[in-house]
Amino acid sequence: MGRITNQLMAIQYRIDAAAEEYGRDPETIQLIAVSKTFPSAAIEEAMHAGQRAFGENYVQEAVDKIKQLDKLRPWLEWHFIGPLQSNKTAEIAEHFDWMHTIDRLKIAERLSVQREPHARLGPLQVCVQVNISGEESKSGVHPSEALALCEQIAPLRGLTLRGLMAIPEPTQNPNEQRKSFAAVRELFESIRMQKEMTAGFHNFDTLSMGMSEDLEAAIAEGATMIRVGSAIFGQRPPSAKIEA
Ligand SMILES: *Cc1c(COP(=O)(O)O)cnc(C)c1O
Repeated sequence: MGRITNQLMAIQYRIDAAAEEYGRDPETIQLIAVSKTFPSAAIEEAMHAGQRAFGENYVQEAVDKIKQLDKLRPWLEWHFIGPLQSNKTAEIAEHFDWMHTIDRLKIAERLSVQREPHARLGPLQVCVQVNISGEESKSGVHPSEALALCEQIAPLRGLTLRGLMAIPEPTQNPNEQRKSFAAVRELFESIRMQKEMTAGFHNFDTLSMGMSEDLEAAIAEGATMIRVGSAIFGQRPPSAKIEA
């Protein structure tokens, strides 16, 4: 069995164990395999092991791989999870199924218009990125602005608003990890409760949080999508930072 296949099984085991420990149904936790910096051959191996959803951070690298794997497109689900400049939105609208890192209206508006010619892919599924740790350098909206941004995105055609995404400041301390994830979950639940009867919020069901080092804490706090890279594909070159 290949190394990637093995690592995927190990991650699924961690997901199942955490789900069991925290009383979650493992079927409600989707694994996004983060393949940034790894070649399309690695994605193919993961796909043959049953993995369908892949996350990418860099537009050009991602589009190259999506094109190389075009024959497999119907089986694959592409998630953009990196920081995005507004002059790169067209590529996202043309190639991706999900966009996790919306942090301003302008990006959402451009994606909405640019998705139209690619309607065969269905609406682009989008999450609003929240800056939960309050670090100056990271992107994401301030938690107090998340609801307002969601309200602006919800009516946009070509997009389906799905929920929130966050990348808390990394820490080895499981209690600190859980505290950050809990803050995202509370924000998510409060938006969901306030908006449950509102058009455009009927699919607001996604909490994208948790990576190789902290997926258990994220599952404990309600993550429905975890984004795992190095624990599946191996170490990346140090220049490929975790950022969004
Ligand atoms: C790279 C990256 C990941 C995966 O991180 P690992 O620690 O390798 O699991 C998850 N989310 C985002 C936004 C990333 O940039």
